[in-house]
Amino acid sequence: MNILLLGSGGREDALAWRLRQSPSCERLIAAPGNPGIARWAECLELDPCDPAAVTALAKQRGVDLVVIGPEAPLVAGVGDALRAAGFAVFGPNAAAAQLEGSKGFTKDLCAANAIPTAGYVRVETAAAAHDTLKQFGIPVVIKADGLAAGKGVTVAMSREEAETAIDAAGDGPMVIEEFLSGEEASLFALVDGETAVSLASAQDHKRVGEGDTGPNTGGMGAYSPAPVLTPELEQRAMDEIVRPTVRALAEGGTPFSGVLYAGLMLTAEGPKLIEYNVRFGDPECEAIMPRIEGDFAELLLGVATGLLPEQRPKLSDSHALTVIVAAAGYPGAPASGGAIKQIEAAEQVQGVTVFHAGTARSGGSLVAKGGRVLAVTAVADTFANARARAYRAVDQIDFADGFHRKDIGWRELQRAETVTSE
Ligand code: AMP
Repeated sequence: MNILLLGSGGREDALAWRLRQSPSCERLIAAPGNPGIARWAECLELDPCDPAAVTALAKQRGVDLVVIGPEAPLVAGVGDALRAAGFAVFGPNAAAAQLEGSKGFTKDLCAANAIPTAGYVRVETAAAAHDTLKQFGIPVVIKADGLAAGKGVTVAMSREEAETAIDAAGDGPMVIEEFLSGEEASLFALVDGETAVSLASAQDHKRVGEGDTGPNTGGMGAYSPAPVLTPELEQRAMDEIVRPTVRALAEGGTPFSGVLYAGLMLTAEGPKLIEYNVRFGDPECEAIMPRIEGDFAELLLGVATGLLPEQRPKLSDSHALTVIVAAAGYPGAPASGGAIKQIEAAEQVQGVTVFHAGTARSGGSLVAKGGRVLAVTAVADTFANARARAYRAVDQIDFADGFHRKDIGWRELQRAETVTSE
């Protein structure tokens, strides 16, 4: 297969790395790619959100499969344009991408199909939001509608904080919802329009600071699997949340095709949906790819062509953990242009791959370009070994402007301690 991959982050570097290892992948093109992806693919300058430009490139290069990494091209209708031109696409059309693009759309779909999620009210104006707030207890969650990369969400611990969040959201549509308590975990399912199979679980760390403190980021680290999502809970999430969603979209004439990422709260009553994303998580993808066995490109082609096998894709029993190395200032304005060295030394650590999230070539050297710069991933037979390898690798990297969280996976460590001390 001749494969075109859209995107330029750490997620796409991990996808490219895994696709490149697939026996069925003959040629891999990435647009726009990054210096890490350039190790596995031919990178071409192109706006991945321009449906006409992407379709023209796919035609010109005789592409057999297009894999769309980030959400923006999906919401922009790049999948629709490619499908209309006859291409096999991994990633949903714009209508199904609303699962991520519109929180209101997802909440209404849950309500109509009895999918467990937090109770909510959709409002169209700030005035209505203030009024509706009275019906809710505290804590309460305020979500601005639209794509906000996690930034449009406030978990308000007081009424005052909730009022402030409503004002800050502006006078647009919002969702006000009940606070769910429990532990969060993510479930990634492959969906070919009708068939949905569970691929992997993961947990991430959204806050910038150790102990999960400070502002939200795109994610500072992740690991897969997430043992807290036991096989029983995973089965429930597939049966009660993912499959009814897939069915509802298919019946509504907007079938979902691609990877459906369910952000779950594991409550006392069982898994409840917090949100959907319509693509792989970043950095969860970096921790999932090393665990996938078999021909990944063929698996994605099956998803894209409606021929996904009913049985679960084969994953190794290994554990993988990713530590993000970010540039100073992130998630605010990150320091740009800092030199990065010794990636090769980091990759000498057994089981380690260093994915590029935000790098550029300047002259002959590698420099930072973006908030999240590297996604250092290690795979091993146990969680503890994967974690140890990842941090050993991070320590090899010479990047003066960089910082990372030292407590990625703390929940698992704590659980391990609990077990040993019993
Ligand atoms: P979202 O963008 O919907 O994933 O929300 C971002 C984060 O806010 C989630 O990862 C949760 O940590 C938190 N959150 C969202 N909705 C709720 C809820 N109903 N109850 C508790 N926490 C929530």
